[in-house]
Amino acid sequence: MSLEHSRPRARSHPDPTAPPILEPGHLDALWLQVTGTLCNLRCGHCFISCGPDNRALGLLSIEDVRRRLEESVGLGVREYYVTGGEPFLHPGIVDILTLALSYGPTTVLTNGTLLKPRHVELLAAAAAGRFSLEFRISIDGPDPASNDGLRGEGSFERAMEGFDLLVSFGFLPIVTVVRTWETEADPEVYRRIVAMLRERGCEKPRVKTMPALRIGAEAQRSGGYAADERVVSGMLDDYDLDQLVCAHARVVTDHGIWVCPILLDAPDGNLGDDLTVAARAPFALSHAACHTCWLHGAICSNPGVVAPETPFATAGAAT
Ligand code: SF4
Ligand code: SF4
Repeated sequence: MSLEHSRPRARSHPDPTAPPILEPGHLDALWLQVTGTLCNLRCGHCFISCGPDNRALGLLSIEDVRRRLEESVGLGVREYYVTGGEPFLHPGIVDILTLALSYGPTTVLTNGTLLKPRHVELLAAAAAGRFSLEFRISIDGPDPASNDGLRGEGSFERAMEGFDLLVSFGFLPIVTVVRTWETEADPEVYRRIVAMLRERGCEKPRVKTMPALRIGAEAQRSGGYAADERVVSGMLDDYDLDQLVCAHARVVTDHGIWVCPILLDAPDGNLGDDLTVAARAPFALSHAACHTCWLHGAICSNPGVVAPETPFATAGAAT
């Protein structure tokens, strides 16, 4: 069964303090949470509190992935995102990405610290086929001093070694950065990151900023949301709903289908095990993190190549 290219809609509530209900549009993107909440790092701002011992969500098997990819064809999905946790902890990650690439354009979100030359060589061959493979590598500043406090000692250099490896195989990774500084500093931070990437031999730096989502570990670090930081009825009137990832995407985990890659700790984010039903399921934007999505929009999509003069663009997802 194919869903027509329907548009998302928002239903307001007579109570102006109640959250609007989002009715999703056509399912464009499928996220595969291949390593659940397992990560080799334990970042201080991780909104799903991933780490080496967080097994709240587990690994997807290649059979799980294959089944969901097959289902997604009938739903008209056009692109795939592979994430965790850290996807390169999965022993079958090369096979998973190769498989996803046989279905559509694929993006993998990684911290870059576990990439091996053999992985990248195989993936470069797989990406030479019909569909493209994008890498998103997360760092949190232009140098170890700005990154390692959040991501762990030595993580900047290891991530950049992964970046260099990808560039050497012809990939053009998107560097994602969580904004943990005042917005006035955006142009300077941006300039320094672009300069650093160019110094490393990347001719077309691509940088995506993500607002900090103040849930999970980040809530402990920076204090979470104020009570009035919520989306309420009326706030989606004349709003471009296409900007919200939950309007066009769902996430496959080993515990079922989730509404978006952000609310993996929220029990109501689990929409059951049937992808067709989950793809159509309305969802109340009642979570504090929804306010960040509303404010910044386009949090999870890939940016284009960013010119060095451009100040920091939009926002992000974990790893
Ligand atoms: S956190 Fe963002 S993507 Fe997730 S349900 Fe709320 S608005 Fe949608
Ligand atoms: S932010 Fe990314 S790299 Fe850091 S702990 Fe979370 S999933 Fe791992």
